[in-house]
Amino acid sequence: MPYAIGIDLGTSNSVVSVFRDGSPLVIADEEGNRTHPSVVSFGHGQSAVVGARALRQMVYNPNGTVYSAKRLIGREMHSEEVTKAQAMVPYQIVPGPHGDPRIQVHDRIYTLQEISAHVLRYLKQLAESYLDEAVAHAVITVPAYFNDNQRQATRDAGTIAGLEVLRIVNEPTAAALAYGLGQAKNEYVAVYDLGGGTFDVSILHIMGDVFEVVSTAGDTYLGGDDFDKVMVDHLMAQLKESDQAAVRRSPASRLKFKRAAEQAKRELSSTEEAAIVVEGVLKDDRGFEKDFHSAITRVQYNQLVFPLVKRTFEVCDQALNAAKLEPADIAATVMVGGMTRSLIIREAVESYFGRSAEQGVNPDEVVAVGAAIQASSLLGALEGTGTAGSLLIDVTPQSLGVATVGGFCERLIERNTAIPVSQTKTFTTSVDEQTEVRIEVFQGESRMSADNEKLGEFVLEGLRPAPRGEVRIAVSFDIDANGIVNVTAEDEDNGRAASIRLDASTGLTDSEVEDMKFDNLDF
Ligand code: AMP
Repeated sequence: MPYAIGIDLGTSNSVVSVFRDGSPLVIADEEGNRTHPSVVSFGHGQSAVVGARALRQMVYNPNGTVYSAKRLIGREMHSEEVTKAQAMVPYQIVPGPHGDPRIQVHDRIYTLQEISAHVLRYLKQLAESYLDEAVAHAVITVPAYFNDNQRQATRDAGTIAGLEVLRIVNEPTAAALAYGLGQAKNEYVAVYDLGGGTFDVSILHIMGDVFEVVSTAGDTYLGGDDFDKVMVDHLMAQLKESDQAAVRRSPASRLKFKRAAEQAKRELSSTEEAAIVVEGVLKDDRGFEKDFHSAITRVQYNQLVFPLVKRTFEVCDQALNAAKLEPADIAATVMVGGMTRSLIIREAVESYFGRSAEQGVNPDEVVAVGAAIQASSLLGALEGTGTAGSLLIDVTPQSLGVATVGGFCERLIERNTAIPVSQTKTFTTSVDEQTEVRIEVFQGESRMSADNEKLGEFVLEGLRPAPRGEVRIAVSFDIDANGIVNVTAEDEDNGRAASIRLDASTGLTDSEVEDMKFDNLDF
C-alpha cells in the first residue's frame, strides 16, 4: 500500500511524518534535523533551496530569502497582517492581480501558494528519499482560526507541490489525535500551542471518533521570540549607554545577543542558573573586541517573562469563555510548540488547568504525527484497506453577517458555530419605493462593518415598490462541511431570489494552480 504523509506546515518550522508499521515516524533531513525551517531562499538564477540550508542563506541573501509565508497566505494585500509583515520582513511584498499579496524576488513574482509549495515539495522529497518510493497523498494542518481563503490557499500549495491533499486538518485536532485522546469517551481537551512567534489555544470536544473544535483563541504576535526579546533587553540594560547604542547599530551583534538569550532560555528549562557569553560584541579601551559576560537565574527569568506568560492565560480565559467552560471541565491538556518545553510554561499550564499535561509525544512533532495518523487512515479508507478516519467537525473561525443601515454589521452566524450550518434572518427595506437591495457580506467580530473583512456582495432586484419597512427580505447563510459559504436573499412577497457563493476571493483559479504545478514547469 502506498504511504500518505502528515505535514505540519508551520510559520517558522515544518515537520513531516509518516505512519509506518503501526507507528508514526518523523522524517529527518540529511543533517539529522527533524524540524525544517519553513524558509525558501532563491538564488539569482531563481533556483530555490529550502529548510536548514535556506535559513543559513538568510544572512547573506536577505532580500531573496522568504520566511513566515504562513502569515501572508490567503490574506488580502490591504489587510492588517500584510501591512505588519511589510514592516518586519526584508523581502518585498507586492500586490497581485486578485488583491492578494505576492513576493517579488529579484525580477520574479511568486504567489504565497508557490512559496509554501516549495516547502511542501521539499518535505515530500524528504519523505520519498526516506521511504524510497514516491509519495502522492498528504494531510496538511492549519491553525484552527484559518478562514476559508487561507485553507484553500494551503490546499492549492499542496497541489502545486504535486500532492493530493486528502484533507486540511486543524493543528489542535491533529495534536489531540496523536495522543489518541477521547477514544470512546466524551470529554473536553485543551491544546496549548506556544511556538516561536505565535500562540493559540483551542478547546476540543471529543466524542469517540468525532473531534470538534468548540473554540479557539490566539495571539499571532506572542511566542518564544518575545521571551528572547525580554531577556535581550534585560542583558542590554547591563551595558553602558554607548555600548548599547553600538550593539543596536550592528545587526550581527543584535543577532548574537538574541542567540545567547535563546540558549540561556533553553538551559533554564533544566538548570537553576545560566551563564551568558556574547562573543566579540564590545570594544575595550584600545578598540579590541571584547566578550559580554553575564548570568541569569531561573527566578530572575521567571520574573522577566511573567507578563508574557500571563498573557497566554488571558487568551485561555477567552477560549474557555467562548466554550462556556471552566478549567476544571478540561479532561486533558496537550502541549504543542517548542516553548512548552520551558519549565515556567509547564508549571503555569498545570496550575491553570489543575492537571499535568499529556506527556510522551515531542511538542514540536505532535501535530505532524497526528496528521500522519489521519493521512494513513484516510488513505486506508480511500484504498478500501482500512476504516474511515476519525470524523473531524469544524467550526466557523469568525462571525459572519451583513451590512445594515448606519454602517452596522448584523451577525447571522456567530464565530465558533459548528458547520454545516444554516441561518436565516428577515430584513426590510430602509427607504420608500426601494426596488433593489445590496447585500454585503462581512466576516469579523466588530459591530461596525467597516472594521470587518468584506467577503463579497450581490444585489437583489425587482422588489415591489412600497413604503419603507414593508417589503420583507429573508437573508440566509448556508455553510457546508467544507466551509464554503452560500448567501441567499429572497423577497418574501414575490419569491424572487439572488445568491452568492463565497469562494476564496484572493485565491487562485484552478487553471492558475494547474499552470503553477511544479510538474508542469522546467527547473
Ligand atoms: P516552534 O515554533 O514550535 O519550533 O518553537 C520554537 C520556540 O521554542 C523557540 O522560541 C525556542 O527558543 C523555544 N524552545 C525550544 N526548546 C526549548 C526549551 N527546551 N526550553 C525553552 N524554550 C524552548
